[in-house]
Amino acid sequence: MKVIVLGAGLLGVTSAYYLQQLGHEVTVLDRQAAPAAETSFANGGQISVSHAEPWANPSAPVKVLHWLGQEDAPLLFRLRADMRQWMWGLEFLRECTPARTRHNIEQIVRLGMYSRAMLRELRRETGIAYDHRTQGILHFYTNTKEFEAALKPAELMRTLGCARQVVTADEAVRIEPALAHIRSRIAGATYTADDESGDANKFARQVVGLCRARTVTFLMSHTITALRARSGARADEIDHVEATDPDGRFQRIRGDAYVLALGSVSPLIAAPLGVRLPIYPAKGYSVTMPVKDESRAHQVSLTDDEYKLVYSRLGDRLRIAGTAELNGYDRDLNRVRCEAIVKRVEEIFPGAGDTGEAQFWTGLRPATPSNVPIIGRSKIPNLYFNTGHGTLGWTHSCGSGKSIARIISGLPPEVDFAFTRA
Ligand SMILES: Cc1cc2nc3c(=O)[nH]c(=O)nc-3n(C[C@H](O)[C@H](O)[C@H](O)COP(=O)(O)OP(=O)(O)OC[C@H]3O[C@@H](n4cnc5c(N)ncnc54)[C@H](O)[C@@H]3O)c2cc1C
Repeated sequence: MKVIVLGAGLLGVTSAYYLQQLGHEVTVLDRQAAPAAETSFANGGQISVSHAEPWANPSAPVKVLHWLGQEDAPLLFRLRADMRQWMWGLEFLRECTPARTRHNIEQIVRLGMYSRAMLRELRRETGIAYDHRTQGILHFYTNTKEFEAALKPAELMRTLGCARQVVTADEAVRIEPALAHIRSRIAGATYTADDESGDANKFARQVVGLCRARTVTFLMSHTITALRARSGARADEIDHVEATDPDGRFQRIRGDAYVLALGSVSPLIAAPLGVRLPIYPAKGYSVTMPVKDESRAHQVSLTDDEYKLVYSRLGDRLRIAGTAELNGYDRDLNRVRCEAIVKRVEEIFPGAGDTGEAQFWTGLRPATPSNVPIIGRSKIPNLYFNTGHGTLGWTHSCGSGKSIARIISGLPPEVDFAFTRA
């Protein structure tokens, strides 16, 4: 079958890889000159099955209200005259019940475990390298109440097979000695030895290399303007993708099947077909800086619960990422947020990184209200989804890519997950 993959981010390139493996003729379209140049460019670098607690949980409504208007809040709703944002907010509230939270954690953990296993298999089979580390993820808490609140979700994750162990502050420092500086402030921690970290952008580019070597075509600098149905009727088959090429010329690109993997742009391209996707951009920040003092720098990937920041070690660089701002498609760097991240890094690992050389970046997470991605069939027979991966797009990429490739091929997915129209 000829399959057109829309988007060359982490989800698009992994879809292309697995589709090619199943014998399809694959073409990937992207508006950028290089793959993984948008949200998949400089993320937190965690393969974190353990990071499965969704933003929408029973304690979220009070916290979100409290954070309204706070420039450095971990999750900030900037209320706009934007119907999509309000609808998303209402659906987010509906996902905050204990039953929905439990259901969502189950989906996120199951897909995460499968995906991590597929990532390992891919690495084993192809030998790709991307500054990856397999030293686990340590999630530390500097607030006792938050630590206590995390014990129940951690227990649920363990029952689902994710070995997220509770550890003391001393054990946390033994796992990551660079935390010794704040030992007295650590209320507790969890450690998931099977989790991993690495450079997601390098990973995506390596996968593109594998795809190209296996005849996948990448049409870069092609901006998709529309998906056109065969007869113009709403739920009819897709006939072609309309895109402008690097010279600005309109092109019609045809396939037998189409995978929508446009990250936070997905709902905008799907809407004219009468397909509503509950995805809203959640802007996040990352800071990358060279290691200045090796003895003070972290090696293990970390999650700083109080500030909702993640820290990864990418070769001789430190990557720190986090915060979420729901403010439409704006990607501006907010100085307050950048400074807040650098201040926190200096507080925890003073002198570890060269802050003078820090590079700042923002990306738009394609967030669903439940944090559960949208993968599977659409109501249009030859249109498939692999989008809405929010905070865990890299963690879930191999499992999602392989699953959508199997669904398109008429094979059953290998993971028990709430695929659309399964
Ligand atoms: C600050 C931050 C930290 C994060 N940390 C982690 C982490 O530690 N671990 C983890 O698992 N996940 C993390 N994530 C989430 C992860 O990075 C995303 O979920 C993932 O990158 C989304 O990939 P995607 O392919 O869906 O979207 P994208 O990477 O945005 O890809 C979509 C592609 O579509 C293209 N496109 C869009 N519109 C058009 C158009 N009209 N025509 C043609 N092409 C178009 C874009 O150019 C882009 O390349 C983080 C995200 C952020 C922002």
